[in-house]
Amino acid sequence: MGDGVVGVRFAGVRKVYAPHGDELEAISRVDLEIPAGSFVSVVGPSGCGKSTLMLMLAGLIERTEGEIHIGSELVTGPRADVGMVFQSDTLLEWRTALDNILLQAEMRRLKRKDYTDRAHQLLDLVGLAGFEHKYPRELSGGMRQRVSVARALLMELPVLLLDEPFGALDALTRDQLVVDFQHMWARARPTVLFVTHSIDEAVFQSDYVVVMSPRPGRIARVIEIKLARPRRLALRSSDAYGCYVKEVREMFLDFGVLREHDEGVEDGALDRDGSLA
Ligand code: ADP
Ligand code: MG
Repeated sequence: MGDGVVGVRFAGVRKVYAPHGDELEAISRVDLEIPAGSFVSVVGPSGCGKSTLMLMLAGLIERTEGEIHIGSELVTGPRADVGMVFQSDTLLEWRTALDNILLQAEMRRLKRKDYTDRAHQLLDLVGLAGFEHKYPRELSGGMRQRVSVARALLMELPVLLLDEPFGALDALTRDQLVVDFQHMWARARPTVLFVTHSIDEAVFQSDYVVVMSPRPGRIARVIEIKLARPRRLALRSSDAYGCYVKEVREMFLDFGVLREHDEGVEDGALDRDGSLA
């Protein structure tokens, strides 16, 4: 595990929320080992505990049972070595794009000037050269999320958690950000946990796709994605890719999270050549 990149291990992790005495089991049991430097996506129905899992890993909420290790360290509280990107971008409206990114250094009491060049490079990398001094309100949703990603990358942390980071964006912007993010990840290869409800996004990016069952969440399957890197958009038309997507989609159908409708054109209504009679 050299180069500051570390793996993550969940062992017997359970989470019960008890807000007003009404207990709610969010995670029933999660055991998972994530090799250092791998890209892991977590997919599962809404409410199955994906965010809960991320927050426990970041040390932002307590677990009810079990252990979580980052490298050899047991998670016992908030971690400075874990970068996070959320669906809502959490940028500070009174700081420019550049200053939002540099906040990561300031918070750690590091010298701002030591990180300015890197912040500019990251903005360039996410396609925001020239927007350094814009305020969040002057940026589109996609641009704001790019700033969030750049912010999470500034310190080159060994672990990155992204919780539906592109969920609020339109499909094209989202595809582009996924491609850009892959490119950025490949440079330092931190260990990534990427929560998404896009099966495509998960398969396209990952070394492993973790499929969770409906609440109370547990891991239903871990699928290793053996597709070569770097991954290009054309990959999405390949058979191998399609097989992985199908495998995950069928699990969602089994859970009843995805449903087919039976009505529609019946076989008999089609001519032999497949056109409508
Ligand atoms: P996901 O991210 O997969 O949609 P969450 O981890 O946000 O799921 O939530 C899992 C379950 O735990 C949901 O039923 C949710 O309502 C519940 N939950 C989440 N946060 C809290 C909380 N702070 N207090 C009580 N229940 C919560
Ligand atoms: Mg969530």
